[in-house]
Amino acid sequence: MIYINTKDTSEVVSFRQATLNGLASQGGLYVPKSIPALETEWIDNIENYSDHDIGFHVMRQLIGTESLSDSELKQIVTETLAFDIPLVDLGDRVNVLELFHGPTLSFKDVGARFMSRCLGQFSNEDEVNVLVATSGDTGSAVASGFFGVEGVKVTILFPKGKVSKFQEYQMSSLGHNIIAVEVDGTFDDCQSLVKQAFQDIKLNKKYSLSSANSINVARLLPQSLYYFLAYKQMKQRGIAQEIVISVPSGNFGNITAGILAKKMGLPIKRFVAANNANDTFYQYIQTSNWQTKPSVQTISNAMDVGAPSNFDRILYFYNNDYQTICREISSQTYSDDETLKRMKSFYLAKNYVLDPHGAVGLLALEDHLNDSEQGIFLATAHPKKFESVVVHAIPGYPIELIDLNGCKKSLIANNYEAFVGVMGS
Ligand SMILES: *Cc1c(COP(=O)(O)O)cnc(C)c1O
Repeated sequence: MIYINTKDTSEVVSFRQATLNGLASQGGLYVPKSIPALETEWIDNIENYSDHDIGFHVMRQLIGTESLSDSELKQIVTETLAFDIPLVDLGDRVNVLELFHGPTLSFKDVGARFMSRCLGQFSNEDEVNVLVATSGDTGSAVASGFFGVEGVKVTILFPKGKVSKFQEYQMSSLGHNIIAVEVDGTFDDCQSLVKQAFQDIKLNKKYSLSSANSINVARLLPQSLYYFLAYKQMKQRGIAQEIVISVPSGNFGNITAGILAKKMGLPIKRFVAANNANDTFYQYIQTSNWQTKPSVQTISNAMDVGAPSNFDRILYFYNNDYQTICREISSQTYSDDETLKRMKSFYLAKNYVLDPHGAVGLLALEDHLNDSEQGIFLATAHPKKFESVVVHAIPGYPIELIDLNGCKKSLIANNYEAFVGVMGS
C-alpha cells in the first residue's frame, strides 16, 4: 500500500515512511493512494470473527505488507485492542459505543497505542522524537501509549490552566521518556510551536522529529477498527440496518477514520459531525465555504478546534465533491448550556452519565436520526475525565482526588526559543 500527500500527489511513501514523517511536505497529509475494498462476504460474516482477527484483517488491507510482518502486525493489533469497546443499547434506537475503557479513558488510546508500537518497530537506528500539542486527551493517550517504548522520546505541549487535573496527572506523572511541557498560552499556541518545529530544518536533522497528532496515519487508521467492532455488535443484535453514527468532532480524525471504514465497504448509511461552539465544519455544510477561525473555549475542550486539520482528508476521500459530503455527513453545533442540560436530563431519564463530548454526540444524533434508522453515538471519554463539568451538570457525581505532587513538568512562555530550550535539556 502506498501513501500520497494531499498537497502534492507525486510524493509517494510507504506506510512506514508516512508514520515516521507525520506531516507530509507543504503542510499536506498522507492518505492511502487507493482505498482497499473489503470482500462483501467477509463483512457479512463479521460476527464470526474475533475482534483481533477483524483488527488484523482491516489493518493489513490498509497498510499493505511492506512495512510490518504478519506476526508484528498481529502483536500490535492485540496490544492496541487490549480493552473492551462495548456498544450499549440506550433505547429509542440510540446506542452508545463506549470508547473510554482504555488506560487513559478516551478513544485516543486506540490510535496512540497503535502508533507508539509502530514507531517503536520503525525506529531502529536513531532515537525518534515525537512532538505533540494537546488540549488534554491526546497528550495523556500518547504519554501512556509511548511510555517505556525503546528508542522514542516524547515531548508533550499543553496549554496552562486549560486541561483537567486528571489529564495533567496522566501527562506529567510518568517521566522517563515522556516530557510534559506546560505552555503559557492556548492550545493553538502549542500547535503553532509544534508546527514551527516541523518546519525548522536544522531541528529536524538534529532530533529526527515525528508527530503524534491525529494527522499521523498510524494514529488515524486504527481508529477505523472500532467502527467495524460497532457494526459487528449491531449485527449480533440483528439491528445492523440504516446505521447513522454521530461523532463528537474536533480535529475530525475520528470521523475521518469512520468515513474510511465506510469507503472500505462497511455498511454505514451516514455520519453526523457533532460540534460544540467551534463550528467551522458546520458552517461549511451550511454555506460550502471553508473558513477556519480561532478556537473558542468550551466545556467539551477536546473539541475546541477552529481549524480541523483532517478536513483535507475528507475532501480527498470525497473527491472535493461538496454535494456528496452533504449527503453523507450532516452537522450540528451545541452550546455549553445545551450540553449541560442534556447531560443532566439524560442522567435522570436513563441513569447514564455522559461526559460533555459524548453529550454533544448524543444531542446531534437525536436531532438527526430519522424513524427508519438505527443510531450510534461515540462516547469519546469517560465522565470522570471531565468530572468538574460532570459535577456541574449532575450534582453529587463522585469526585476523585488527584494529587499532582510528584508530577514533573516544565513551564515555558509561549515562545519558540523557550520550547527548543526544553527539548535540548
Ligand atoms: C480528541 C477528542 C475528540 C475529538 O476527536 P477528533 O478526532 O479530534 O475529532 C472528542 N472527544 C474527546 C473526548 C477527545 O479526546
